[in-house]
Amino acid sequence: MKNIKINDNLLVETNEILKKYGNNGFEGLVLWFGTVTKGSAFIEEIFTPPQKSIKSEYGVGYLVSGETLFSINKYLHKTGLRLVAQVHSHPSRAYHSETDDRLAVATKEGSFSLVVPDFATGPANLHRWAVYQLRRGQWEEVSSKDKDRFFTILKSDIEGIKPLKHRWWKWIWK
Ligand SMILES: [Zn+2]
Repeated sequence: MKNIKINDNLLVETNEILKKYGNNGFEGLVLWFGTVTKGSAFIEEIFTPPQKSIKSEYGVGYLVSGETLFSINKYLHKTGLRLVAQVHSHPSRAYHSETDDRLAVATKEGSFSLVVPDFATGPANLHRWAVYQLRRGQWEEVSSKDKDRFFTILKSDIEGIKPLKHRWWKWIWK
């Protein structure tokens, strides 16, 4: 995928959700679902999956169960949406850890993984976030220049842009 369009209010909402997890001392995970046509993605929905937040002497993290992943895949199959990006927060520095590589929820070639620093206490700005793309099975960091090339942030107050859609797991699981 080379072009991702996202409504600015979905970006802000993603940051707000992660900030709430951070307020409790936890990392959080939000997924971006979109329609993909010829390598271009439009983010239609953001989704906060049920996740087990972990806080231990080794640090913080989150776990998404196999059952949840199965339900997500079923939902994507039903709707024709794709998991375009996963977004998660870190207590401080934004980078893809070895655990992030191993336990990524996004597993399709070309999908993105965004890491938000400082428990999302800063503004929702991709240039403050670390962005990685899965290329030939490896999570590679996207340069600052490529962030601008790959991502288009749409202004939600302009006519014709779809309103905020945030799916909660209760909706998907019913
Ligand atoms: Zn991480």
